Amino acid sequence: MNLRPALPSDCGLVPPSGDGRPPIAEILASLDALGAAGWQETEIASQPAPSGGALPIRAYASTAAVDAVLIGGIHGREPAGAIALARYVPRLIERGRRLGLLVMPLLNPWGYLHHARYGPAGQSVSDSDHLLGRTAAPACPEAGAITDFVVHRAGIRPGSAVLDLHEDPIYEAPDYRFDGFGSYLYFIGEGASDHPVSRRMRRCLAGSALPLVRSGVTRFGEQIVEGAIVDSADGSIDELLARRLGCTPVITVENLLHAPDEPPLPGRVEVYVAVLDAFFGA
Ligand SMILES: [Zn+2]
Repeated sequence: MNLRPALPSDCGLVPPSGDGRPPIAEILASLDALGAAGWQETEIASQPAPSGGALPIRAYASTAAVDAVLIGGIHGREPAGAIALARYVPRLIERGRRLGLLVMPLLNPWGYLHHARYGPAGQSVSDSDHLLGRTAAPACPEAGAITDFVVHRAGIRPGSAVLDLHEDPIYEAPDYRFDGFGSYLYFIGEGASDHPVSRRMRRCLAGSALPLVRSGVTRFGEQIVEGAIVDSADGSIDELLARRLGCTPVITVENLLHAPDEPPLPGRVEVYVAVLDAFFGA
């Protein structure tokens, strides 16, 4: 019996973000097929819905012991990852028959709805600095709940591969310039940047419609070398997964956005579906 509360009415609306992203309900409906295939669904946390009620933050696991982690939707102006993961559900079900998969596809539904980077507290929903010895307390309630789930309840085995799908809306920083379009990567974890999964990822993006940016400096001041930033200490959940749980490779994908629909969202989703294929070696 399904005892989940009904989704708030906001989830049925097309968010006014200017990129044509689908309603949250549409994404969550695609993911419901994971539960129907026997995956364990967990509500890790929730965020307040504008019309009342709660926007669920869900995780889906194919088995109790996890070998690979897929993450999307941490930042609300970066929808391509969540949409690609929703579209990838049939292949996730297939992969999950042989592999322990944990999928956290839309970690910041409030940001997705409001087209805002952070959650309602103005903080990154998966900030991990409190578990990396840098701050005393979680940055916001979601960060406390999400990191606690990942470290203590998710069953993630050391050596698990991680893929975290972001985008880089550089228009958030009006004084910053980076000409052209393309992608870049972050690698964290022991031997991560030379791992076979990482090599597949470089090849996939290099030949994609959003080709790897070979060099440059991100708006956070990080140097991109041969398309990647290695061993960043940014307090992200990726850093937590690598340093606290021994995951490797932990791969974060980014692509440069000059406006919500530049480049257009459907093409970005296509690239991220190909990225998922590359992650699994399909
Ligand atoms: Zn991001």
